Amino acid sequence: MDEFEASLRLPGASRCETIGPITRFAPSPTGYLHLGHAFAALFAAAAAARDHGRFLLRIEDIDRRRCRREFETALLEDLRWLGLYWAEPVRRQSEVMETYRAALARLEAMDLVYPCFCSRKEILDEIAAIGAAPQGPDGVIYPGTCLRLAHPERRRRQAEGQPFALRLNMTRALAMVPPLTWYDRGQGVVIADPGMFGDIVLARKDTPASYHLAVTVDDHIQGVTLVTRGNDLFRATHIHRLLQALLGLDTPDYHHHELIADSDGRRLAKRDQAPTLRALRAAGHNPKEIRIRLGFS
Ligand code: GLU
Repeated sequence: MDEFEASLRLPGASRCETIGPITRFAPSPTGYLHLGHAFAALFAAAAAARDHGRFLLRIEDIDRRRCRREFETALLEDLRWLGLYWAEPVRRQSEVMETYRAALARLEAMDLVYPCFCSRKEILDEIAAIGAAPQGPDGVIYPGTCLRLAHPERRRRQAEGQPFALRLNMTRALAMVPPLTWYDRGQGVVIADPGMFGDIVLARKDTPASYHLAVTVDDHIQGVTLVTRGNDLFRATHIHRLLQALLGLDTPDYHHHELIADSDGRRLAKRDQAPTLRALRAAGHNPKEIRIRLGFS
């Protein structure tokens, strides 16, 4: 049993005896919760409650530069105000970094990971030089510059302390897994096509685990059986399904829901200055009214 397997067996990592689905809400404490978050949280809680399942909470606070403790305190308060209850313990990603490192080490031992020293500018220059820029769902596909670096050169750069990200060797990863699918409550059986992303980043110097890696490992460890989240993250599930297969993790069902829009039809997001739950509360709105407005009684 390696360190990764051991971390999957930590206390609290056992499957719960629950009849219905185990769902979760997984906010990042980078700002105050707004109506879009409230919808996502209520959606997950309702999916669990409807079938006598269990609703969990996870704080996605890996990005230490953007996350603030005061936003976490505020979001817990806002969720309680909304009338939500979750099963303890709350999982905090910043407290379980060792688990992500162990998952990365597992992928490294499978020879699926390589260091990438490219800056964003270097990647764009390389693409311009090639004269073709194949697009993946997250932008241009990494042209594989550092995959072709000879090992002594890699070691030299690492020894010099050059910053690097860790990328997944997608071609090799795909060769190791059978054809993959997942069940989506909205779309039925979906054929996973992670290859369209190219060599994704699994870790950076300043964030030792990518969103994709952390979320996949966490959903397994928390025993989540139904991942509900906005359809802006639908395509990410292609990657998560691959990581599950590579790491031997469980595959939950998924339900990607619509993102709620404001009265002009624009998606509600933090950057749009959507009304926060705090602002709505301060303006005299009550939680029942908000739940009803979002379609939950
Ligand atoms: N932390 C992500 C967010 O705030 C959600 C992750 C997920 O549900 O998989 O958008």
